[in-house]
Amino acid sequence: MPSLIDLHMHSSVSDGILPPRAVIALAAARGVKVLSLTDHDTTAGLDEAAHGAHEHGLELVTGVEISATWRGRGIHVLGYAIDPTAPALAAGLERTRDLRRERARAIVMRLKRHALPGDELYELAAGGADVVTRTHLARALVARGLVQDPAEAYKRWLGHGCPGHVPANFCALAEVVGWIVASGGYAAVAHPLRYQFSAGTRRTFLSEFKAAGGVGIEVVTGGQSPTQVEAAMGLALRVGLDGSIGSDFHDPAIPWNPPGRLANLPACLQPIWMRPGFPQGAASIR
Ligand code: MN
Ligand code: MN
Ligand code: MN
Repeated sequence: MPSLIDLHMHSSVSDGILPPRAVIALAAARGVKVLSLTDHDTTAGLDEAAHGAHEHGLELVTGVEISATWRGRGIHVLGYAIDPTAPALAAGLERTRDLRRERARAIVMRLKRHALPGDELYELAAGGADVVTRTHLARALVARGLVQDPAEAYKRWLGHGCPGHVPANFCALAEVVGWIVASGGYAAVAHPLRYQFSAGTRRTFLSEFKAAGGVGIEVVTGGQSPTQVEAAMGLALRVGLDGSIGSDFHDPAIPWNPPGRLANLPACLQPIWMRPGFPQGAASIR
């Protein structure tokens, strides 16, 4: 049975495939009742998402997934129940999108040195969305027939150790959490097991996240095994963070994380969606 709540989804405003309205329509068709659209570093899809939610009788909580840096590593922080017009948040997101554009330009400069059509790739990548990501560059490489699929784009050109790899350089974790808190929202660490940390470093990271004002951690994400849910649950209990759940949906062609295909949040955890600012209907969902 699909989950009634899904707090992590992407639209074509960032690196998802479907426009916000179509994301909501799909979530509704799959039985989701409460959701958050959490595009990377932009809130530009939230108005359209709100209309879609109204149309389909769903409840929407404002959201965003912000790229941050901690000890030189890229980290994703989810912001929920944010006010997208709050000045610090809006300015921070704009700064982050600038950093993404700078990174994309640095990547295509490197690709040009390997005789790839860098300017054309940049135009293709930056054309549609409000934010340019490496996913867009990977798709541009596919569109130009330079690789078969996005996976090959990362393997040959964009990934660690490849000619087009440029390390991420986003704003500091504490600063990013601060933008979310200042906008009246709640910060949660996205997909905590995806970062290549040792166990000790992961706990230090989460403690610093909490000290900066973070309150949540994504315990259930799309395609996770029960063992991974348990590991994330352990982190939430140990550090004292509310639990969040979300599919990280991007693309209807990817079979393993459609909207709402999620395990329930373990009963020992406090759901982040019980906090004030989340839709009323969320309170009855476990
Ligand atoms: Mn993404
Ligand atoms: Mn992410
Ligand atoms: Mn995501």
